[in-house]
Amino acid sequence: MKRIGVLTSGGDSPGMNAAIRAVVRKAIYHDVEVYGIYYGYSGLINNHIEKMEVGDVGDIIHRGGTMLYTARCEEFKTKEGQQQAIENLNKAGIDGLVVVGGDGSFHGAEALTSLGYPTIGVPGTIDNDVPGTDFTIGFDTALNTVINAIDKIRDTATSHERTYVIEVMGRDAGDLALWSGLADGAETIMIPEQPQETEDIVERLLRGHRRGKKHSIIIVAEGVGSGVDVAREIQDETGLETRVTVLGHIQRGGSPTAFDRVLASRLASRAVELLLEGESGKMVGLVNNQVVHKPIQTALEEKHKIDQNMYKLSQELSI
Ligand code: ADP
Repeated sequence: MKRIGVLTSGGDSPGMNAAIRAVVRKAIYHDVEVYGIYYGYSGLINNHIEKMEVGDVGDIIHRGGTMLYTARCEEFKTKEGQQQAIENLNKAGIDGLVVVGGDGSFHGAEALTSLGYPTIGVPGTIDNDVPGTDFTIGFDTALNTVINAIDKIRDTATSHERTYVIEVMGRDAGDLALWSGLADGAETIMIPEQPQETEDIVERLLRGHRRGKKHSIIIVAEGVGSGVDVAREIQDETGLETRVTVLGHIQRGGSPTAFDRVLASRLASRAVELLLEGESGKMVGLVNNQVVHKPIQTALEEKHKIDQNMYKLSQELSI
């Protein structure tokens, strides 16, 4: 393998830049040329490909977003789009590809692999919803962004003795809600993996109120539904003044935490090694603090799960 490519795809996440840096530096360390593909799979189809040098990834390890930009590309879901992508890669003499993204991007990587093109996936998404790794790149940063926001909301919630509903991202996964809820002592955590009856939530809130709690924080994962609807329902049912904050895209941005920078560096470097070892169709992940790899296919077939013990703990600690 003389030349490899790297792209970021789907939703961006903090730490993607650290992953790009690691791919570029690791490849050059092994005397392999690296090409950056801009705007995810669109760049493969439109031939937006540029050679990268050591200096091109200087001063990006601490920056959020992705210097290669990202995109969603419907055309790449078609056989024609995928074949065009491989034709462009072959024309550029690029022998293998590292794809940094979430499970949608992994479907794309699997498609390239099944057409015979060597591809390795690196999990990058704030949602932490990729099976096969304990953590995805960007999750820890997003989690810290969420708890910083909740800490601030808590101050005003206490002053006004209000109930606050906070909607966090995570698509169909509840990890951001669960972890931030545990980290911030939320009274209730609503996640798609663990449906709850509204009356149980109401009972819990009223019990706390009777005990003299000054405020309540309810974290709602977007996969459960709209925080606005939840807040309205809770106010109607409890009679407690309830406000809602939808944290939105601030969760995607910001300088990556040390954890995400280190995770990105470890996983992306391993992805390069795997390509050089002749592997394809694999994803890298962190399991029990060890860098591992497994077929992308198994990650796509498995269903994301939350840690049930953590959920139980969050319930026990918020009585
Ligand atoms: P994420 O990677 O964050 O989950 P998306 O689900 O939007 O983001 O996927 C990113 C891109 O991956 C899509 O826009 C598309 O180009 C590609 N992709 C997604 N699903 C498939 C698929 N089944 N086959 C081929 N490419 C896909």
